[in-house]
Amino acid sequence: MYAHPVFCTQCGQRLEERTLGLDPGKTVPVCASCGTVHWIDPKVAAGCLILRDGKVLLVKRAIEPGYGKWVFPGGHVDRGETPEAAALRETREECGAVATIDGLVGLYSYPGRPVIVVVYRGTLLPESPEPFPADETLEVGWFTPGQIDGIDLAFRSTADALAALFGRPFRTPPSEL
Ligand SMILES: [Zn+2]
Repeated sequence: MYAHPVFCTQCGQRLEERTLGLDPGKTVPVCASCGTVHWIDPKVAAGCLILRDGKVLLVKRAIEPGYGKWVFPGGHVDRGETPEAAALRETREECGAVATIDGLVGLYSYPGRPVIVVVYRGTLLPESPEPFPADETLEVGWFTPGQIDGIDLAFRSTADALAALFGRPFRTPPSEL
């Protein structure tokens, strides 16, 4: 899913992995033919924790990674798109919810992992439909902290962001996205 490119985007030659900088364990694909360095940037994802009556809106994933597990609505930020806009767009795409951003919950990233996750607090707007399972979603639900203890969370960032929101820890899943 996050594999390094194999061929040069500029001239089509096969790339080789080279150490740049001080860390010998960190390599980047470089084209021996034209010299283009293919920097491997992190992926940025953004999502929304929407609260209503003390419950948070979660969606059950219909895609890997984390198929069948619960996460807040969210997804990858497109280049040129703000994380706030991406969080709201993904929320609408995954469960139909039309929301507004209230503030930042936190930024979640883990050593060796490609994804940086930006998590916001949000509120459902009055004109929003009741959330429903849409793209990439099997099921939607509203959960109290106690109810979250009884479901499988998809990612470590899911547990960490919910912990920041509710001020108490949640069981951390093995996946470290
Ligand atoms: Zn090249």
